Amino acid sequence: MNEVIVSDILQGKLRTEFKTVSAMAAIYCHAQHGTRQGLCQECKTLLDYAETRLDRCPYGQEKPTCNQCPIHCYKPEQKEQMRQVMRFSGPRMLLPHPILAIRHLLHEKKPVPDKPKLNASNRHLRKKVK
Ligand SMILES: [Zn+2]
Repeated sequence: MNEVIVSDILQGKLRTEFKTVSAMAAIYCHAQHGTRQGLCQECKTLLDYAETRLDRCPYGQEKPTCNQCPIHCYKPEQKEQMRQVMRFSGPRMLLPHPILAIRHLLHEKKPVPDKPKLNASNRHLRKKVK
């Protein structure tokens, strides 16, 4: 029930953030779409999209929470979907995932960095290593 999808490509804080998003997607999908195991196609697609956005986030490891981010990299449709997922699952995270939930709340209080550093994205670093 509380299985959390782990990203193969994301590192560090972005990886944790993806875990948080995927846990929220699971809570949402189970409650709203009646999925018992894993995610429905729609939620899976959204989660894949989230992974790509995290991978390409120019802030990289300095990324603020999406809520506070000045960049707004989501397309309107996905943004609206994600907003609903967060709104529904945010308050329901504490019980099944206390550590992820508290981390996210603390992260939200941190100041947003001025400007992303050059080439800080997970994607860039990922390609460099190879
Ligand atoms: Zn779903």
